[in-house]
Amino acid sequence: MPETLAVVEPATEQVLAEIERADEAAVDAAVARAHAALPGWRVLAPPDRAALLYGLADAIDAHVEELALLEARNAGHPIGDARWEMAQVARVFRYYAGAPERPAGDTIPVAGGQAFTVREPLGVVGLIVPWNFPLLIASWKLAPALAAGNAIVLKPAELTPMTALRFAEIAREAGIPDGVVNVVVGPGRTCGQRLVEHPGVAKIGFTGSTEVGRSIAAGASATLKRVTLELGGKSANVVFADADLAAAAAAAPMAVFGNAGQDCCARSRILVQRSAFDEFMGLLEQAVGRIVVGDPLDASTEMGPLISASHRETVASFLDNGTPVAFRGSAPDGPGYWFAPTVLAPVDPAARVAREEVFGPVVAVIPFTDEEEAVRLANDSIYGLSGSVWTTDGARALRVARSIETGVVSINSNNSVRVSTPFGGFKQSGYGRELGPHALDAYSDVKSIYYAT
Ligand code: NDP
Repeated sequence: MPETLAVVEPATEQVLAEIERADEAAVDAAVARAHAALPGWRVLAPPDRAALLYGLADAIDAHVEELALLEARNAGHPIGDARWEMAQVARVFRYYAGAPERPAGDTIPVAGGQAFTVREPLGVVGLIVPWNFPLLIASWKLAPALAAGNAIVLKPAELTPMTALRFAEIAREAGIPDGVVNVVVGPGRTCGQRLVEHPGVAKIGFTGSTEVGRSIAAGASATLKRVTLELGGKSANVVFADADLAAAAAAAPMAVFGNAGQDCCARSRILVQRSAFDEFMGLLEQAVGRIVVGDPLDASTEMGPLISASHRETVASFLDNGTPVAFRGSAPDGPGYWFAPTVLAPVDPAARVAREEVFGPVVAVIPFTDEEEAVRLANDSIYGLSGSVWTTDGARALRVARSIETGVVSINSNNSVRVSTPFGGFKQSGYGRELGPHALDAYSDVKSIYYAT
């Protein structure tokens, strides 16, 4: 008898679905199906592969409402956010659908003939994704990998498999050939690890914790698999006294409390210049007080629950060590893994909450004196994913943006992610880039061809 997995709705603690739980043998079977489908998929004429991917984008658009409801219930995302995410999934597929027909490669002058490069797909690619943005993060990997001609085995997090399973059905209905997209729902320590070690898998695209990322890098080394790692963060939102403080304070809450803080780009450290500290905190308190926390299916909700009871315990552990709570927002009582938005200030940069990824709605506000100290504090982290700079001094904005050791920085904005621009980390936030033109390189290899004339 196969094991069953109970998928829980975090806003109600009720079972949403019971599904079959895969094991290593199921992973091997999925890899075999992908290998069988690969030859036909990789040689498909570029306009035909493009047409199938445009068709898949249209099919996702036609199912936005259904997928959004599924994501809102399974991951606890506010329904408005979930609708936006699912529309973005379609947009990601549409962006990469054009890739098969775009120029790729160089011609290089050589003696005695002609040399040129082409890009070849890697083969069967394993994608391992987390529970925080289940289908959106999967799409960042699926779309460029498919456009480049690879076949896929996708392993969603066991906590949030619902939209990945529905996506596989939609892909089949949209005409993606059988075996090109395979979804395996099973534990990371068995199914995920099998994908990492499988000799028939050419690459792992992973998003998740830095700790598991390290074990994936180590596990992939035995077969010299390609690996893209998008890992944790401790991003700094740096607010100078000359900034538009009202705009910075109005934007700061959702930059860390969006998705209940379960976001690798969460600006979970706000660094504020001392001369503007009190004014900024006053504005921030008003903004945090306005956040609507509650039922994800209510259109007015801005923040839902945490993903699980055990994750709520982890988040709560950051409040146990005497760090000063400046103020908190609201959260419902009763069933559901609720946690009120929490602002800690002033926080010692050496405190655990200022150094570790909380992955919940808790922010550490840290004062600084000058630009040199702001940059030093922002970079005082093992992570380097994203960050923000708020100032009206254009030269300072560019100086600080260049000095911050992260893969993504925004100026007078907290927006890190766009479909058309590269996204990924420095330092222990990982390596490789997703989205934008760069993601295609991560799912193909360069081949150099010489033709003697
Ligand atoms: P994990 O890194 O454990 O999980 C991410 C994915 O990896 C899941 O699909 C998981 O499977 C799988 N996985 C787990 N262990 C292995 C393994 N040994 N080999 C292969 N795959 C594996 O993240 P968690 O969900 O446990 O979250 C823990 C913390 O990680 C969070 O609190 C947060 O700090 C951070 N995190 C960061 C994310 C980011 O976007 N950067 C995303 C998610 C988490 P399964 O869960 O099904 O067992």
